[in-house]
Amino acid sequence: MDDLRSLEDVLELQLLDSAIDHLLEERQNLPQLDKFKIVAKRIEVLKAKLAEQQAVADETRLQVQKSQGEMNLVEDKKVFEERRLYAGGLNAKSTQNLQLEIEMLGRQIDTFEEQILTALDVREQQDKDIATTTAELSEAEADFARLETEISMAWRAIDEEVAKDEAKKAGLVPQIDPEILAIYEDMRSRPRELPSVGRLEDDSCGACHLRLSNAEQNKVRSVFPPRCVHCRAILVV
Ligand SMILES: [Zn+2]
Repeated sequence: MDDLRSLEDVLELQLLDSAIDHLLEERQNLPQLDKFKIVAKRIEVLKAKLAEQQAVADETRLQVQKSQGEMNLVEDKKVFEERRLYAGGLNAKSTQNLQLEIEMLGRQIDTFEEQILTALDVREQQDKDIATTTAELSEAEADFARLETEISMAWRAIDEEVAKDEAKKAGLVPQIDPEILAIYEDMRSRPRELPSVGRLEDDSCGACHLRLSNAEQNKVRSVFPPRCVHCRAILVV
């Protein structure tokens, strides 16, 4: 295994790893993901709101049906009593009582009619509210579908890039001296602000950018793999 080649390769490996890290970070932080969560929450809220509005509207509908049923009974009764009245043959007292009864039934019918009309007005407004919520829900669902498509397309593109870099890595890793590779992997696994590999250029470490004196550079070159005296990065010399 060529030592210098290994150093160049581990630098290349670092570039690939950084590129993959960057892509994975991008994958996790797509701007659409936050919007997607907001839209998903909104759909949940709108669905609950719609269910509640429908339940209230159903209640109003039942109320109208009930009032109509009750009104029909009173109407039937009124018709029946009117027939009795028109049939005649009652004494004056009974006739007067029957007339009062029929008037009372008429007032009951008026009250039912008012109740039904009021409930129908309420029902009309409830239907409008349901239509508004339904429109808002389908808009949110369209946003959801659009974001889902955008996210899956973005993810596919990122995954393809990652796969390309992973393939390059797979070709590169076997060429690297195992000892260098082990040092590199160990450094990468630790929290570290600086790169694990740097090129020694213009008397400076490519990882920490600090200068190395001639004596320090000689010391660095005397061991393998060369490591920066300041930041311990693997140095490509
Ligand atoms: Zn350094």
